[in-house]
Amino acid sequence: MAENTDLMDKIVSLCKRRGFIFPGSEIYGGLANSWDYGPLGVELKNNIKQLWWKRFVHMRDDMVGIDAALLMNPKVWEASGHLSEFNDPMVECKNCHERYRADQIDTNAPCAKCGKKAFTEVMQFNMMFKTNLGPVADEKSTVYFRPETAQAMFVQFKNILDTSRKQLPFGVAQQGKAFRNEITPGNFIFRTREFEQMEIEYFINPKDNWNKHFEYWLEQMKEWLKDLGVTKNLEFVEIPDGERAHYSKRTVDIEYKYPFGQKELYGLAYRGDFDLSRHQKMSGQSLEYTDPQTNEKFLPHVIEPTWGVDRSLLVTLLEAYREEEDRVYLSLPPKLAPYKVAVFPLLKNKEQLVSKAREIYNDLRQYFNVAWDDRGNVGKRYYSQDEIGTPFCVTVDFDTIEKDGMVTVRNRDTKEQPRVKIEELKNYILGKL
Ligand code: ATP
Repeated sequence: MAENTDLMDKIVSLCKRRGFIFPGSEIYGGLANSWDYGPLGVELKNNIKQLWWKRFVHMRDDMVGIDAALLMNPKVWEASGHLSEFNDPMVECKNCHERYRADQIDTNAPCAKCGKKAFTEVMQFNMMFKTNLGPVADEKSTVYFRPETAQAMFVQFKNILDTSRKQLPFGVAQQGKAFRNEITPGNFIFRTREFEQMEIEYFINPKDNWNKHFEYWLEQMKEWLKDLGVTKNLEFVEIPDGERAHYSKRTVDIEYKYPFGQKELYGLAYRGDFDLSRHQKMSGQSLEYTDPQTNEKFLPHVIEPTWGVDRSLLVTLLEAYREEEDRVYLSLPPKLAPYKVAVFPLLKNKEQLVSKAREIYNDLRQYFNVAWDDRGNVGKRYYSQDEIGTPFCVTVDFDTIEKDGMVTVRNRDTKEQPRVKIEELKNYILGKL
């Protein structure tokens, strides 16, 4: 266990040191459990999101995307049940006022912060963030930041159907921020109050075999994990009757063995027509689908796979982290690495080397994100690029200019250093991506 906690500390420290993730508002003493993605973190996060969008939207005929507003009409949350049900059970220490999730601690034990044994009764705490629309802050102007991205895909179902002309089965995908006033956030970016989700609502004919679709999506989620380089430390947990939401006939939690314990990474649920029927009732607008063959009208059922972006990034880093005697490196899948290539002139004070390296750098930048480094010696540059997961380092040396027009391409994982012709460099790297 000590070793594992150590791994988490190493990841947090590497993230800060190399510009992946910084503590939020740090110069003002921070803001509890808020984190900002830095220059490399934003690249890694965007790469994860783009890979997901490509896999699940662009490469499929049966999927379309949306990008909805964060603030929605409060009736959405009444219909979805979030206003009445989106609660966590909470207790407060009467002595030091520390608050805890009642389902995560032994409420008969002493308070972990002050050691007194004085918890309140369990209270229900609604996790939605409130704000006010417009200049008057009263009940009528109260709105909520979305606690999940899912609902807009139901609320816009009719518009999507009318404009995209998709036929069942088909899905809608969305990526974006969600906000939850978590009682006990923590474990770095695992649980924060502002985070990003990637969700799909996959609509099916209620007469279809829903379990076949469910199994299919479970497989898709496993395939996705391979894209992240995550094939170990996973557990697929069937949620038993009685613990699932009442409208769900099947839910599987995809859990990961984090250094701080086995916890949820993603979820997959069969939600029936719960959401569409609630929104249809509450809005008074028909959300029915008309079968083009039979003209039958009905509410589709839905399978919902859901992914957290931040947890995706965390497990990607945990799985990629490697230590060797002389180096630390991130064995990131090349597609996800913030930089695909780094280009170096062997010596920074030799004009011919620098200008040739600049030429290569500027050419490669048209195709992928490329780093430039001319500090220190080549060994130090390798060390530095390894630590941020750059899969290839290209060095321009005297032979490049005087002899063979070739460069050394050093491989992050194998440390091999083949010579490659400058004209073939782009395709060589593309081939490895
Ligand atoms: P948990 O049990 O960990 O609170 P949940 O079951 O409430 O998660 P969902 O409502 O299913 O989570 O949300 C879908 C996904 O969004 C989760 O699988 C997770 O990846 C991500 N997620 C949920 N809450 C947070 C959070 N507070 N911080 C970061 N990611 C989150």
